[in-house]
Amino acid sequence: MQWKGRRRSDNVEYRGGSTIKKGGIGIGSIIIALILWKVFGINPQTTLGVAEQLNSQTVQTTPVQHTPEQQEVHAFVETVLADTEDVWTPIFATLGKTYVPPKLVVFTGSVQSACGGATSASGPFYCPADQKVYLDTQFFADMKTQMGITGDKQGSSQLSKQNTAGDFAQAYVIAHEVGHHIQTVLGISSQVRQAQAQTNKANANHLSVRQELQADCFAGLWANHNQKRTNFLQKGDIEEALDAAEKIGDDYLQHKAHGHTIPDSFTHGTSEQRKRWFYRGFESGDIQACDTFGVKNI
Ligand SMILES: [Zn+2]
Repeated sequence: MQWKGRRRSDNVEYRGGSTIKKGGIGIGSIIIALILWKVFGINPQTTLGVAEQLNSQTVQTTPVQHTPEQQEVHAFVETVLADTEDVWTPIFATLGKTYVPPKLVVFTGSVQSACGGATSASGPFYCPADQKVYLDTQFFADMKTQMGITGDKQGSSQLSKQNTAGDFAQAYVIAHEVGHHIQTVLGISSQVRQAQAQTNKANANHLSVRQELQADCFAGLWANHNQKRTNFLQKGDIEEALDAAEKIGDDYLQHKAHGHTIPDSFTHGTSEQRKRWFYRGFESGDIQACDTFGVKNI
């Protein structure tokens, strides 16, 4: 996958990786100091001096230092997110709508979202409540090692030179999560939630599968349009994404990523279904082709 030299999105924020705590005197310290002063006659300056000293001991103002590898990952994420913005904006225009893109939060370790806390073990996810995609940097590393999605068998030095290894599989993951944003802003996700509230568990799970497969189809649709814009695909990229869809098919992206909304009994789309819907989006480039809710058999 070619990705260098294109526009990079400003909608990426970075969290974690260093501890930065605020120093100074908190309002709590001031209240306690005033109580001590009023009740016991202790000079507030003495109390606040101690409070400030205590606070300053926990202050770490280590600047965030990113390694060249991290900077590379950040540049990649910003470029892929910009690619999704540049593809979805005109598509929304044809629907008579304005595309408001999601923010993407890259985090290390753990993160707080409007959907609750998450750790690196959660995998990537989209939170409809704050309309942000959450992506932990460890996930990309895991994709390459644990799941064997390398796209290149010639060793890491070769990888860093070419910067093509597994790139498209990673872009597909981002495009899938942006797909959930598309579903949210088009009102599809809320319709699914309403329908799920009025049906039994099995049917509710079935709707979740259709929602996931549509996000895959949207990822394929994105790849189609981005290819027309940028000619970014290289030999083997689509196979790589389909391979990723297979490997992360049944639980990695979904169970871990959307675990906060999905019960244990949830049956995910099969690898075969995921591949098929990704390919349907990719071949057609047509949002109508991604109506996973309108077809009888998925
Ligand atoms: Zn998903």
